[in-house]
Amino acid sequence: MSAALDGQTGQVLPEVRHLINGASVPAADGATFDTRDPHDNRVLATVARGGAEDARAALAAARTAFDEGPWPRMTPRERARVLHAVADAVDAHSEELAQLETRDAGKVIRVTRHADIPRVAHNLRFFADYASFAADSAYPDGPLLSYTLHPPAGVVSAISPWNAPLMLATWKLAPALAFGNTTVLKPAPQSPLTAARFGEIALAAGLPEGVLNIVHGFGGDEVAGPLTGDPRVDRITFTGSTATGVKVMAAAAANLTPVSAELGGKSANIVFDDADLDVAVPESIKAAFAGNGQVCFAGTRLFVQRGIMEEFLSRFTEAAAKIVVGDPKDPATDMGPLIERRHLDKVHGYVELAADEGGKIVTGGSRVTSAGLADGFYYSPTIITGLSNESRTAQEEIFGPVESVIPFDTEEEAITLANASRYGLSGILFTRDLDRAHRLAARWRAGTVWINTYFDRDLRLPFGGEGASGVGREGGQYSREFFTEPRAVMVRV
Ligand code: NAD
Repeated sequence: MSAALDGQTGQVLPEVRHLINGASVPAADGATFDTRDPHDNRVLATVARGGAEDARAALAAARTAFDEGPWPRMTPRERARVLHAVADAVDAHSEELAQLETRDAGKVIRVTRHADIPRVAHNLRFFADYASFAADSAYPDGPLLSYTLHPPAGVVSAISPWNAPLMLATWKLAPALAFGNTTVLKPAPQSPLTAARFGEIALAAGLPEGVLNIVHGFGGDEVAGPLTGDPRVDRITFTGSTATGVKVMAAAAANLTPVSAELGGKSANIVFDDADLDVAVPESIKAAFAGNGQVCFAGTRLFVQRGIMEEFLSRFTEAAAKIVVGDPKDPATDMGPLIERRHLDKVHGYVELAADEGGKIVTGGSRVTSAGLADGFYYSPTIITGLSNESRTAQEEIFGPVESVIPFDTEEEAITLANASRYGLSGILFTRDLDRAHRLAARWRAGTVWINTYFDRDLRLPFGGEGASGVGREGGQYSREFFTEPRAVMVRV
């Protein structure tokens, strides 16, 4: 990152450029945009604003690195050694990356320090090892020996959102690289800083030039569109909103490019009357408000069995009121700002809609403008009752700290309500009756079901969603299927 001067403050700021073929380069037409700190709306850095020409240059670099470079020809163990070195370098820079993520995305420092950035290193190590050690099958059958090869797919376009910037970027890059592909990453324009720094770190740690290219900017006809509609792209891994996912898949269809799409959610959280509320209340708080509700699999439709509604709601509301909203750089803060002004307006618009729809705002429902926070995009943890599952508030993805609480009577009603959504990303369930838990997990239309817990992940399991929540799965063997071209080989011996 080279230096630029902020006209407002005179502070020296980094100028973030693309990473193409190992070189730090500005946009071909010199265009830039600003990335801002959601805590105070101050400019953090000026960033290269990519266009079609930049996308083509990055794809050409990735194509050459794939067709002629060493990376796809190395053994999985050799690639793993490099990816482990990159993971070690991430650990060595973890505090810097955590601070940068907290400034750029408004994520609280406790989480970037202890969850997101450690997970970046874990993504790299997990897929490096998985690609090296994954089991495979061979079928000796009389004179015929049949087996499968997994050559890399080729050039991968990876497009990521702003809510967990480097964690989600490396959730794509780590398997793509481990299985021998070359890549072009386009981070979200709201939070490009950690991806840019990661590119420098990876290169210094030994990733060959052209294997990871990073272009910055916006969607549509700017830099992202050309990354999805180009015949040189062999795989597209996209995480973002459902509306954008539709556009990505339409662009990819022109070249029959396979797409893995991890999209929006409106997940149900069911609390039965036999649940251990000492677990269900704090986990439900996490499901609703962790990351400011800006989490794809947040449990934003909370169904509570009628007999415990009063007690649950009182404990849930009390716990929500204790959430510390504040500067994300402060380790005591639980909830930082929303990502940008436009998003703050959208979230508040939904709270106004909820009131129009007949909902009762039990707590929250307004901006937080206390001392030091007035220039930022802070919003209070909000709980709404009195709405049905059919209301727009309960059906549309708000992606903010807004929770609808809805009563139910029977198990059958609960699972019917949970499945009454166009999304199908995750489900959360609290009960001491494990027979019931397994019964419902089998009937839940969701990619992930958490029972008496939330947010736990095992990277060997499939991750993805049904319906409007996406197409395909990633994780362990599912990532291998997506990022390789499985080839059947039969030998007469
Ligand atoms: P978004 O769809 O606006 O943007 C995502 C990315 O796509 C950005 O990098 C953006 O620049 C790019 N983009 C925009 N238009 C494009 C186009 N026409 N072609 C190609 N790329 C384009 O989403 P967002 O606001 O950044 O992220 C929030 C959304 O992401 C929410 O809906 C959330 O649920 C979803 N999400 C899903 C998961 C998951 O795993 N399922 C995880 C995190 C976030």
